[in-house]
Amino acid sequence: MRILITNDDGIHGHGLKVLAEAAKLLGEVKIVAPDRERSACGHAMTLRDPLRVTSVPFDGLEAYTVNGVPVDCVNVGLTVAWPDGCDLVLSGVNHGPNLGFDITYSGTVAGAMEGAINGIRSISVSLATFVVEAPPHWETASQWLGENLGKLAGLPEQELCFLNVNIPSIAPNEVRGTKFAEMGRRVYKDRVERRDDPWGRPYYWQGGAVVMKANQPGTDVMAVSEGFVSVTPLSLNWTQHKLARLQAETIGWPSDL
Ligand code: MN
Repeated sequence: MRILITNDDGIHGHGLKVLAEAAKLLGEVKIVAPDRERSACGHAMTLRDPLRVTSVPFDGLEAYTVNGVPVDCVNVGLTVAWPDGCDLVLSGVNHGPNLGFDITYSGTVAGAMEGAINGIRSISVSLATFVVEAPPHWETASQWLGENLGKLAGLPEQELCFLNVNIPSIAPNEVRGTKFAEMGRRVYKDRVERRDDPWGRPYYWQGGAVVMKANQPGTDVMAVSEGFVSVTPLSLNWTQHKLARLQAETIGWPSDL
């Protein structure tokens, strides 16, 4: 199996090593990752600047850095690393969760999204840490991926769909299992904080605390908060067929849905 790996934490992100180790068991791995952290860049792509690609050492694997974002890395990867195409695009392992609405901000998820747009089976993987100071349980991601990545890579698939996986950052023996779950809601409070610079001028820092409304049965948010690994198939077709039919009927316009 020909495998392309990217991430949004950058070439030095520890999760990239974790994912590469697990992927090596499945086939030939090539890495194309941002040259620095690009978290929360979403599905952005670089259009106005040249992309520079640099070959770098990476545990004996063919690896490159790109001065861009994960989407750039996937597309550069399909030009430089795997010009004849590949069978699997992996993105991660992200340091931090990509649950619920995080999916829309996430560069990690965007990497898998770009793989799906290119018609390649794609999986994004995140380690769901919730306490900033707590050391991340990378060993849990290693163990889970070692046991399950091959199974995910063999699942039935659908055009323009990809998988988003969140592994709770808890000890391996505390993981209660793995569940398919739907995209939940993740709400932040105090999203933008006002501070003052040394000259008394205000500046604003975006971040905010997550309000984990864990009582969302069936969702990735709830599964991970209860100690399960969540697996969520996502589709790039965002069309709401039922709503479109209802709205078309209400307004009296034709609908092709
Ligand atoms: Mn990240």
